[in-house]
Amino acid sequence: LERTFSILKPDAVAANAIGQIYTRLEQSQLKIVASKMLHLSPEQAAGFYAEHEGKSFYERLVSFMCSGPIMVQVLEGENAVTRYREIMGATDPEQAAAGTLRYDYGSIMPANAAHGSDSTESAAREIAYFFTNDELC
Ligand code: ATP
Ligand code: MG
Repeated sequence: LERTFSILKPDAVAANAIGQIYTRLEQSQLKIVASKMLHLSPEQAAGFYAEHEGKSFYERLVSFMCSGPIMVQVLEGENAVTRYREIMGATDPEQAAAGTLRYDYGSIMPANAAHGSDSTESAAREIAYFFTNDELC
């Protein structure tokens, strides 16, 4: 079974949507195998999004990601990386299909409710960024 890394961003947590989103994940046969709430420091957020350093939206993205608590989780299931990205929808909530997380809970970028790894390699790196081995079963 494949694993992916997921963040419910500060906008989704502030909207009291954790429960609704967890219900959707569980109903879509993605198992939540690790989970916790964090409030990122600017250094943690900048490190997580280092691949975007230098882009026009980088500073706004880092500051948004530190604007309130987030939920980080590891999801497991068949084709978890691709399936979770489908559940999230397009990066820009204005382009996301109805019924996706970003359509329902996102607003104006960078506030798009959720993050999901873009490959199994990214997933492994991102999981290790936020979880220790003994937090993962
Ligand atoms: P994520 O990595 O968060 O799952 P993604 O892979 O769909 O999203 P990326 O291109 O990796 O999208 O962008 C990372 C994040 O940066 C986006 O989720 C969004 O919050 C923010 N972002 C991307 N493009 C823009 C933009 N043009 N303006 C503002 N914010 C943006
Ligand atoms: Mg990405």
